[in-house]
Amino acid sequence: MQQTSLVCVTGATGFIAAHLIRQLLQQGYCVRGTVRNLSKHESSSFLKMLDGAPQRLELVEADLLSPGSFDEATRGCRYVFHAASPYQLNVGDPQRDLVDPALRGTRTVLESCRKSGTVKRVVLTSSIAAITGAPDSDRIFTEQDWNTTSSLKENPYHYSKTLAEQAAWKYMQQQADFDLVVINPFMVIGPSLGPSLNTTNQMIRDIITGVYPGIMDLNWGFVDVRDVALTHIRAMETPAARGRYLCSAEPLHMREVVKILRNAGYDREYRLPSLDLSGKTGTGLMKLASWTQPRDTGAYLRTHLGRLMRYDNSKVRTELNMQFRDIGSSLIETAEDLVRWGHLRKKG
Ligand code: NDP
Repeated sequence: MQQTSLVCVTGATGFIAAHLIRQLLQQGYCVRGTVRNLSKHESSSFLKMLDGAPQRLELVEADLLSPGSFDEATRGCRYVFHAASPYQLNVGDPQRDLVDPALRGTRTVLESCRKSGTVKRVVLTSSIAAITGAPDSDRIFTEQDWNTTSSLKENPYHYSKTLAEQAAWKYMQQQADFDLVVINPFMVIGPSLGPSLNTTNQMIRDIITGVYPGIMDLNWGFVDVRDVALTHIRAMETPAARGRYLCSAEPLHMREVVKILRNAGYDREYRLPSLDLSGKTGTGLMKLASWTQPRDTGAYLRTHLGRLMRYDNSKVRTELNMQFRDIGSSLIETAEDLVRWGHLRKKG
């Protein structure tokens, strides 16, 4: 069915944004996606091959660091999904490479939405990183929680997402022409529509190819990228949607991730870890070893090793009627997709 509403998706080439665009096109929406550089055809050409794209997808250039850059992209739109933001752990300069684009970019996009006069709702892709930067085994995290521990020096990606989301809510206190709904996904996995390797899928690749010395005491919440895209659309289409939505299907220990992949046969050709480093001694050793890692990987390990991650996803399930895919199947589909794109190097 053809929808009359024009919607904008920022960072169209991104892992999550591409799935969002695909689902929006499937539902009949007209979509305007932003990319940083239109002349880099190899990074955006896959979008033009999506069903409905020739008729209903337009790509325009916009950069988070250029004031006014999103004016053209948001003009005439009813809904805007702001997904563009650097998602990397280790960067040269955390202020320049993470905080500036995340924070200034969010303000810039919201300002363009205000200027448009047509935007009714913005759906912002925030992160679990804005909820916590250091899981606490005694707590169950909810939408009420904010990351108060990250900084430019410790988990700067988490810091950038926290500052960006806080700036968005602050901006909303000053204007009332449109409303804001925020999605806070945990680790997003699943098949990629484009050729680039997303940071979370890179972590799955690293587990499969033996980059980690053993099974560490790490817990993550996982959610399939197709469910994250659908959550964004439900947040747009549900008039009563309000506030933040923690978006994660299921927490898994690294041990369980490895077991699922081993049961699917990924230990035959790849180097799945088998050494158990998830006890107290292993965690102590890994904390020491974290100092030999790149700065941000090291900080991530020190703030996450040995800590249970528990959260409550009832708000997204009840208010947006989300039911999540089985994460075991998503993990296997992720691995198959990594093989399909040539991202996995075999052992030996
Ligand atoms: P990707 O790295 O796949 O995509 C990020 C997108 O942001 C790319 O399109 C990139 O454009 C764009 N971007 C980065 N910097 C700029 C800039 N200066 N100007 C314009 N565009 C820019 O990430 P994801 O799809 O995974 O992430 C999308 C959002 O979801 C992010 O906000 C991320 O923080 C959040 N998120 C992701 C999770 C995950 O596990 N993947 C978990 C929780 C939240 P270009 O192609 O030009 O580089």
